[in-house]
Amino acid sequence: MRDCRLHDHSTVVIIGGGPGGTACAIKLLQGARSRGLCLRVLIFEGKDFNVHANQCVGVLSPPIEEVLARDLDVHLPRALIKQQIFGYRLHGERENVLLMGHSAHASEAGHGQATYAVERAEFDRFLHDTFLFLLFCQCPNFLEPVDTSARSVPQFTHHKHAN
Ligand SMILES: Cc1cc2nc3c(=O)[nH]c(=O)nc-3n(C[C@H](O)[C@H](O)[C@H](O)COP(=O)(O)OP(=O)(O)OC[C@H]3O[C@@H](n4cnc5c(N)ncnc54)[C@H](O)[C@@H]3O)c2cc1C
Repeated sequence: MRDCRLHDHSTVVIIGGGPGGTACAIKLLQGARSRGLCLRVLIFEGKDFNVHANQCVGVLSPPIEEVLARDLDVHLPRALIKQQIFGYRLHGERENVLLMGHSAHASEAGHGQATYAVERAEFDRFLHDTFLFLLFCQCPNFLEPVDTSARSVPQFTHHKHAN
């Protein structure tokens, strides 16, 4: 079997730029930095999140804020949060039920246990921007604009040969 270990200037291709793919890309770049490697990380994403959005109600439930900070060193900007959610009310024919969650007493945004309403495409764009910023800081030669006018060209492919 071929040696699959990553080396300086190895290329990693990630198909799909949702939270899973982008988190993977961010983690890869952070791991590469700690090992002194420059990785060519490409995300192939078919959607333009300035125009399209993945299906989502836009609810970020705890411990998402903690997980982002702890595992990715990514800090949710306050500007992304449209509203804080303290509970849900179920409307039935005979009665209404109020469900209060962990965040019921989290009066301040940013305390790690709150539930937030966000615009999903904005959240995806924020993660992509974080990825691009890391790529730019670590391996600027691998960042180049992509012609998105051609239908077949995937979005968020950020690549340029160093040599
Ligand atoms: C109706 C609905 C509502 C939801 N509401 C919530 C909610 O409120 N809160 C919550 O936390 N979760 C919600 N979810 C779940 C949430 O959307 C998923 O858990 C999350 O999107 C999974 O992230 P992902 O990166 O794994 O996949 P996705 O977000 O699906 O990302 C995959 C990406 O890959 C791209 N892609 C796929 N195939 C290719 C290809 N061949 N080439 C290039 N790109 C490709 C797609 O365009 C997509 O952007 C909801 C899901 C649905 C369906």
